[in-house]
Amino acid sequence: MFFDLGVRDFLDRAELVYADRVGVVDEPQQPAPSWGSLTYREVARLARAQAAGLDALGVPVGGRVAIVSHNAARLLVSFFGVSGWGRILVPVNFRLSAAEVKYIVEHSGAEVLLVDPELEHLCDTVTAKHVCTLGDDDEIFGSTADPAPWAGDESATATLNYTSGTTARPKGVQLTHRNLWLNAVTFGLHTTLSDHDVLLHTLPMFHANGWGMPYALTGLGGRHIVLRKVDGAEILRRIDRHGVTILCAAPAVVTAVLDAAATWDGEVPGRDRVRVVVAGAPPPTRTIERIRAELGWEFLQIYGLTETSPLLTVNRMRAEWTGLDPHEQAGLLGRAGAPALGTRIRIDEDGQVLAQSNTNLEGYWANPEETARAQAGNWFHTGDGGTFTDGYLTISDRKKDVIITGGENVSSIEVEDALISHPAVREAAVIGIPDETWGELVTALVVTDGRPLTAQDIITHCRDHLAGFKCPKRVEFLDALPRTATGKIQKFKLREPYWAGHEREVN
Ligand code: ATP
Repeated sequence: MFFDLGVRDFLDRAELVYADRVGVVDEPQQPAPSWGSLTYREVARLARAQAAGLDALGVPVGGRVAIVSHNAARLLVSFFGVSGWGRILVPVNFRLSAAEVKYIVEHSGAEVLLVDPELEHLCDTVTAKHVCTLGDDDEIFGSTADPAPWAGDESATATLNYTSGTTARPKGVQLTHRNLWLNAVTFGLHTTLSDHDVLLHTLPMFHANGWGMPYALTGLGGRHIVLRKVDGAEILRRIDRHGVTILCAAPAVVTAVLDAAATWDGEVPGRDRVRVVVAGAPPPTRTIERIRAELGWEFLQIYGLTETSPLLTVNRMRAEWTGLDPHEQAGLLGRAGAPALGTRIRIDEDGQVLAQSNTNLEGYWANPEETARAQAGNWFHTGDGGTFTDGYLTISDRKKDVIITGGENVSSIEVEDALISHPAVREAAVIGIPDETWGELVTALVVTDGRPLTAQDIITHCRDHLAGFKCPKRVEFLDALPRTATGKIQKFKLREPYWAGHEREVN
């Protein structure tokens, strides 16, 4: 006899096996009272109280509950308290504008909106039947009643996560219990999670990148350390204080940690203990090398999308495991990785990465056309260009970021990697801007570490690393690059001023 998989399985096991163990350490610095340290018994009690609270508000099974919150224990508990009893959790990106938040909450048809007191200004005009402030615990987490039982249905939608919608309106990605369950277990396997692990939440919890860990780590009885604001030195302090063993981070967060480590007094915490899972954007080769040399942490790269729950490939480069010699090992450095267990990868005739996996989305909420387009031919279309050789995937670029110059395709990732290899370059983004001769002109936007650099210095450096047609023809220096809440560079924002009045063709 078997039963349907569901996200509550993870919390049920933690409560059964690890009831008295501290499972979650809440962020101390927040406007709502911090929950401090919670055992798994308390986490499970709060999730049940939340589910009973939603019963009392009349939210049916399948009803949507939106949450706009910084990282906080209340958000982590909601993963279970909302989805665990059949409702759909809609975690909203708190870096969006009020108009975008309104669109998402209303498009999802959320009946309840839970708001971090610090983010109330984003929700002033949102219409939802019930708007509750997180921190007002009597209302949301205070019920002592038993929640109405939910038998479970692994094909039911558990979460609705809206993609950033850089080119169109945000799309709501529907992930089922089965998607999330399999992603969590696969994620846990590939990162060898165990009950000894202590995870620092450096990724925003509203994002799918953050999801593999919360479920898997809970089920295995590991410990969550909530982090509200990303700051390199604070990350090192928390790693030290809480004995952190694992974190997931975007490349930009890793750069902040490396900068903080450079001025850290004494040995950097976590040497030979921490593994850092880098996701969400391609990590520059120099960043990977610095993680190993300057921090002594193990580096893993994963590749995936919100639509794939997210795990598609994983690159874990331990020589003793891959059996490769150091030279071959180095050849794998910048690659996105091998397909995760249960995932198939294929490259189509246009060079696009396609994926089949049991973690692929159910569909886009109320958007059958986009659902059909993304899943045409029974493969999920990632929108990324790549190559797949010897079992390893390499992402060449997002299709919309490839620069077409003089008839040649240039990968912005490859040029950025060359730029970052310059010791005085801190961050770099490469875009195409309209040009009569070249079609698009390869343009580098560079943030330095303060040392004086000229455009010619940059171009000369690139010539040593890249074919001539790939080298930037124009270089601009900026103080910072615009980034999303998950640390990705917003290239569409960088392109905007140059493309006003022009139509941009995408391969
Ligand atoms: P949008 O909503 O515009 O589609 P998003 O950034 O919000 O974008 P995500 O699902 O968060 O969407 O990001 C998925 C994308 O991140 C992938 O399609 C890929 O371009 C990029 N990405 C993720 N991991 C890696 C990696 N390891 N190497 C290269 N690119 C990566």
